[in-house]
Amino acid sequence: MKNLLYIDGKWTGNNLSKNAVHNPATGERIAEVPRGGKAEAMAAVEAAYKAFEEWSDTTAYERAALLKKYYGLIIDHEDELAELMTKEMGKPLKEARGEVHYAANYIEWYAEQAKRIYGETIPTHDKNKRLQVWKKPVGVVAAITPWNFPAAMLTRKMGPALAAGCTVVIKPSSDTPLTAIKLVELAEEAGFPKGVINIVIGSSSEIGDVFLSDSRVRKVTFTGSTEVGKILMKQGADTIKKLSLELGGHAPIIVLNDADIDKTVQGVVASKFRNAGQTCVCGNRIYVQSGIYEQFIDAFATRVKELKVGNGMEEGVDIGPLINQAGVEKVAQHVEDAVKHGATIVVGGEQPKEKGNYYKPTIIKDANEEMLMMREETFGPLAPVQKFETIEEAIRLANDTPYGLAAYVFTENLSLGTNIIEKLDYGIIGWNDGAPSAVQAPFGGMKESGLGREGGQQGIDDFLEMQYVSIGI
Ligand code: NAP
Repeated sequence: MKNLLYIDGKWTGNNLSKNAVHNPATGERIAEVPRGGKAEAMAAVEAAYKAFEEWSDTTAYERAALLKKYYGLIIDHEDELAELMTKEMGKPLKEARGEVHYAANYIEWYAEQAKRIYGETIPTHDKNKRLQVWKKPVGVVAAITPWNFPAAMLTRKMGPALAAGCTVVIKPSSDTPLTAIKLVELAEEAGFPKGVINIVIGSSSEIGDVFLSDSRVRKVTFTGSTEVGKILMKQGADTIKKLSLELGGHAPIIVLNDADIDKTVQGVVASKFRNAGQTCVCGNRIYVQSGIYEQFIDAFATRVKELKVGNGMEEGVDIGPLINQAGVEKVAQHVEDAVKHGATIVVGGEQPKEKGNYYKPTIIKDANEEMLMMREETFGPLAPVQKFETIEEAIRLANDTPYGLAAYVFTENLSLGTNIIEKLDYGIIGWNDGAPSAVQAPFGGMKESGLGREGGQQGIDDFLEMQYVSIGI
């Protein structure tokens, strides 16, 4: 692998200072990548700007063919990509393989969707006019992505952007640049023309500043924390930057008395402990109705005790390390605060003996609103459970947050489920489903969880401009 920046069809950055990439399972330094900054970001924007005219002039069928080829190459390199991902961010290899497929599917789905970017004709009020809506690619797109899904967060942006006819400059997280670099290598192999896809890695503030202030960048698409999303929104004000923001979550899980216990435990474990709890849609607080409270906790605890913690490269591991020591400290702080406020640890509640950024999968019961873990995103393997009596109380607790990304409801009762979901202010709902994400569905949040949607037919809209044309005949 080249471990370099890719700008205007050239691998570059050898002359720059380097950032080390570490394996969070072992602390081992696994690679060094150039630390790009303002100059590299500007060069990449320039390259994408120059390439836009020709790329946007290709037919949807030409773009679809390239995207399909790219999809095939990603699938062919599943093993290499999955191992890179596990080594640089820690998720178990089986989850990394799943992510490679999920990521590739965005490319394939938008290869097809490129052919369905339809305009409109509008009934005219005047015999001598024809009214139409044309769709055009927005232009240069800058994409900033986080470390927790190093492949899928990238392809969820690249797929629709390239399909729409935009050129892209990617900036992955400094913690996980290797998967992104490999994905760009495969794009080069697929044959995307120079300048259509560029990658810069390094100083996030310098690179972000170029993306948000350069008027040639017509759209910035960001996935990451709400805190950084707010900074970008402010920075983009001067150029009225088109922005998509996929930000933090604090997902509630509501379990009603009539829930099917086995299905619920399976769904809650999938939602809470996938990627060691480091997903934006993972259940962060579990509200269980009083009639099923103890029964649920017993069944949940039995399952969670079976989860194996360890290096994601090892067979059978369910919970890998957290991305860094700060991540471990945040979980420990939430546990300590909960116990101080009267909660009880049911399972886990400590770091295992293994070296590395590990924390044992943890269940805490008798949680309440005063506890930090019920108010902010933990981003770790901590499952707090709070008892509730009435459905109104559960809805109030679930909505009592500035976030609105994902929520989960477990009930077999159609009417109750429908009524609750209609009142939840969340962009994504899993009803008896702990893993609702799908490439063909719109993903995104309400309130401070973001702007816009990614995935599905809606996910390409943000990469297109609408142009209304009134034709006098
Ligand atoms: P983060 O700190 O916000 O970083 C995300 C990306 O932004 C990284 O590439 C980071 O680069 C970059 N960045 C940081 N400061 C920046 C600045 N001032 N200007 C421009 N770019 C900047 O978030 P994270 O810790 O990587 O990811 C975890 C967060 O992402 C969680 O809150 C999670 O909920 C959220 N998330 C949301 C979704 C969703 O779809 N809604 C999906 C996944 C994750 P460096 O790493 O190089 O600093």
